[in-house]
Amino acid sequence: MSLVIAAPAPITIPVAGGGSFPVRRIYCVGRNYEEHAKEMGFTGREPPFFFMKPADAIVNVAEGTIGEIPYPAGTSNLHYEIELVAAIGIGGANIKAADAMKHVWGYAVGLDMTRRDLQGVAKKEGRPWEIGKAFDQSAPIGPIVPAAAAGNPGNAAITLSVNGQMKQSSSTSKLIWSIAESIEHLTTYWRLEPGDLIFTGTPEGVGAVVSGDLMEGAVAGVGSLKVKVR
Ligand code: MN
Repeated sequence: MSLVIAAPAPITIPVAGGGSFPVRRIYCVGRNYEEHAKEMGFTGREPPFFFMKPADAIVNVAEGTIGEIPYPAGTSNLHYEIELVAAIGIGGANIKAADAMKHVWGYAVGLDMTRRDLQGVAKKEGRPWEIGKAFDQSAPIGPIVPAAAAGNPGNAAITLSVNGQMKQSSSTSKLIWSIAESIEHLTTYWRLEPGDLIFTGTPEGVGAVVSGDLMEGAVAGVGSLKVKVR
């Protein structure tokens, strides 16, 4: 069978130490730190929920370099959300939390960029979130670090500064639903496959960036991520 149009390029993320990780899907956990849930007007005492970004929203940023994203169309309130990202190496459905970590191949530092104004309209109108969350170049990400080399991502400092000023500073130990628990919930609804990414949620302190701003995010043991808004 010959392709009738050109196939899209495969989406891959470089792996720290060599090789590259092919991306299938991007799942994101919503409101997964209590203080962030509160700043968004919720209690933080709800079951986990999920949304997705397209794989081609990935913007690869090599360690030690400054990545760039355009200021996206249609918004006047572009928000940063620094997140720990888990990269799935072994798929499965109905995975129990106790078994979940063996499905994780590695970790990365990611930004869940958000058109907050459009997300707000979607929430208010009961519409889907894609326009606020799943836009082009909405998922800048650093290299994937193999799990064995990633320290303790379940208890790691997670930070984001903008133009040198600290905006988000927390610990992944404050995730409401741990990586393992998130995988358990997620796989009751979807079958995870190798190449899936899970953005695990952002701590409190989200806010807006404008053209020219430099975001510097980090998760201790996993790496750092610098992204400038064009
Ligand atoms: Mn998020």
